[in-house]
Amino acid sequence: MRKKIVAANWKMNLTLQEALTLCSEVSNMLNDEQTHQAEVLIAPPFVYLQSLKNLLGDSKIILSAQNCSEHAKGAYTGEISAAMLASVGAKYVIIGHSERRLYYLETHRQLEEKINRALENDLKVIFCCGETSEIRNKNEHIVFVQNQLAGSLFRLNQEAIQNIVIAYEPVWAIGTGKTATSQQAQEMHREIRNYLAQKYGDAIAKNLTILYGGSVNASNAAELFACPDVDGALVGGASLKSREFVEIVKAMK
Ligand code: PEP
Repeated sequence: MRKKIVAANWKMNLTLQEALTLCSEVSNMLNDEQTHQAEVLIAPPFVYLQSLKNLLGDSKIILSAQNCSEHAKGAYTGEISAAMLASVGAKYVIIGHSERRLYYLETHRQLEEKINRALENDLKVIFCCGETSEIRNKNEHIVFVQNQLAGSLFRLNQEAIQNIVIAYEPVWAIGTGKTATSQQAQEMHREIRNYLAQKYGDAIAKNLTILYGGSVNASNAAELFACPDVDGALVGGASLKSREFVEIVKAMK
């Protein structure tokens, strides 16, 4: 059975007090059965990781960062290394989110280096991929996503790839309220799994977790989670409301 994950990407939102309140609400609302059905991740802004780690104590909720540097350490003012993230309790890091690719011009090669730094520090990676509406309209979305995967992941060996979670996030669905249909999500998730199987073999591909992201909410989560190749969600906007986020976790039955 591959791992199911529901991950909250808080992006650049919330004050410290708001972050503490949201995290404790989510933690209090979830019971052991729900955190057993799916790993529940919260990716807050970097500066809140330590405080949330202290707040969560032995809770099953797992912390993720939203990004890390491609460098190990040194004179890179303003950057945060994978080793720093691990030292404050992060277990995952999101790499290659479309907002970072778009606004910070992150390249395949740079993302590959970020992934290497994360894995060297025993962080698991949520690797984001996904096409714009222009690319989908030209019917080039599958090749485009395959190139994103090959460009940043395919030098990883068989052992390393097993520490990667893929998040398929069509850019046109992020923050727009336009969720992919379950057919669109399933089609792309199956293509991603088949493509990874060509490179790493069926047994490994079958066990890789592939999340869907893009306007997931409490009303559409169950239908998406019913798709055979959708193993959970990366949730942006809806993760900023405790009740809504918890309903999404509960949809993972
Ligand atoms: C995201 O940014 O990862 C995301 C999926 O955002 P939203 O849920 O708001 O579309």
